[in-house]
Amino acid sequence: MSVAVRPLFAFDNSYVRELEGLYAAWQAAPVSAARLLALNEELATELGVDPEALRAPDGVAVLAGNATPEGASPVAQAYAGHQFGGFSPRLGDGRALLLGEVIDVHGRRRDLHLKGSGRTPFARGGDGKAAVGPMLREYVIGEAMHALGIPTTRALAVVATGDHVARETMLPGAVLTRVAASHLRVGTFQYAAAHGDLTLVRRLADHAIARHHPHAVEAENPYLAFFEGVVDAQASLVARWMLVGFIHGVMNTDNMTISGETIDYGPCAFMDAFDPATVFSSIDHGGRYAYGNQPHIAQWNLARLAETLLPLFDVETDAALTAATDVLQSFPDRYHECWGHGMRAKLGLTDDQPEDGELIDDLLALLHAQRVDFTSCFRALSSSVLGDAARTRSLFTEPWAFDAWSDRWRTELSSHRRDPQAVAAAMDRVNPVYIPRNHKVEEALAAASAGDLQPFRRLLDVLAQPFVERPGLEPYAAPAPPGFGPYRTFCGT
Ligand code: AMP
Ligand code: MG
Repeated sequence: MSVAVRPLFAFDNSYVRELEGLYAAWQAAPVSAARLLALNEELATELGVDPEALRAPDGVAVLAGNATPEGASPVAQAYAGHQFGGFSPRLGDGRALLLGEVIDVHGRRRDLHLKGSGRTPFARGGDGKAAVGPMLREYVIGEAMHALGIPTTRALAVVATGDHVARETMLPGAVLTRVAASHLRVGTFQYAAAHGDLTLVRRLADHAIARHHPHAVEAENPYLAFFEGVVDAQASLVARWMLVGFIHGVMNTDNMTISGETIDYGPCAFMDAFDPATVFSSIDHGGRYAYGNQPHIAQWNLARLAETLLPLFDVETDAALTAATDVLQSFPDRYHECWGHGMRAKLGLTDDQPEDGELIDDLLALLHAQRVDFTSCFRALSSSVLGDAARTRSLFTEPWAFDAWSDRWRTELSSHRRDPQAVAAAMDRVNPVYIPRNHKVEEALAAASAGDLQPFRRLLDVLAQPFVERPGLEPYAAPAPPGFGPYRTFCGT
């Protein structure tokens, strides 16, 4: 690396500069035969890097962890976390490294992070590796979320390592390059509170404020305003998940960001038939992270964040507790405001009629009772607005129950006196046709693991425009065939 070439990325590593005590400097383990499987060209361009430079051997070496790019300062980040309710004081990046931060073409600071890059001091019993299937899964679901307009970390690339990973069977190995607004987690604060002193928590909070909630510095109580910012970001995020039927699957505090981006696509999946009790994760026996429990869990996680910040809120413990509790208890209202706004938009209704709540609840009860596909139903409703109810009715086993609801809904809609064409078009902009259907994801990943990337690329292409119905893509819009279920997803992949 002695020739004078332009560095791939213009790094500016504020985490390493400001947060000593919250990381271990580390290098990726070399891989034997790096091969680029997927590159997110749009994202590369956004990061100010030429996609061709990443495709070239030197670029692939960086994405595989075989070369450290100029300006990077790779570290394994330390964090703690409540996993399924039990506290682990020391988790951290067991198989991942933060390479550094770049300022993108929009002026936003973004983390570049390798996942599957070998054991680190935080690896505990793990092998530090990742397999092709789960890394491509993170790639495709993250891109689907992004296209749906939901804040998320994104994949820049997946590289096959040429090495094998021992899971239940031997699997082809991979390294994912992840891009995030930051990798600050609720668990990062928990680690600082458990291992450091108050100055470390304060340094971390100051770093997080500068990065994600800069307005908080002007507040009377900046740390409380910061906490409020995180509560708001998470209330909005989880509401958006709920509006598309997304189930994260492992909402441990180490998998919840301070930025409000969705992170860690492990056992996540989209619900098909509407049922609040839906769980896909094979290890979530109690349904702690079931679809309908997600808002409650988000608030629980935020309480854990508040605990780490209490001494910064106020020197008086009682005053700190009261302030924290007030903000925390605002979560349900913030959540319901986002969710209600989103649901009304899904139904073509505006925000000025508070009695819509009952209409929404009654529709969801109908979907639940008749096990109707959530995504298909909301998408079909725009046809009803245009006078064709058959598309929606066909989704119900007892369509007359839907008809009764539909009469009430149509009455409500007509009271708004808006142009049906405009209402239907607005609904189609928020009700996706295409989500990552579980059987389609599995089909694409199985083919990719066997060497055929075509179905994966096609799926990515379909999911890049989730709101635009395109002829020929009907199989991507349909729920899984009856023989497919019950679907199970796996963690620790
Ligand atoms: P996750 O379930 O992916 O959020 O990971 C939870 C914790 O386990 C994190 O500290 C990870 O870094 C760690 N971990 C997961 N898989 C591995 C692995 N194969 N090797 C080492 N650490 C791992
Ligand atoms: Mg995690």
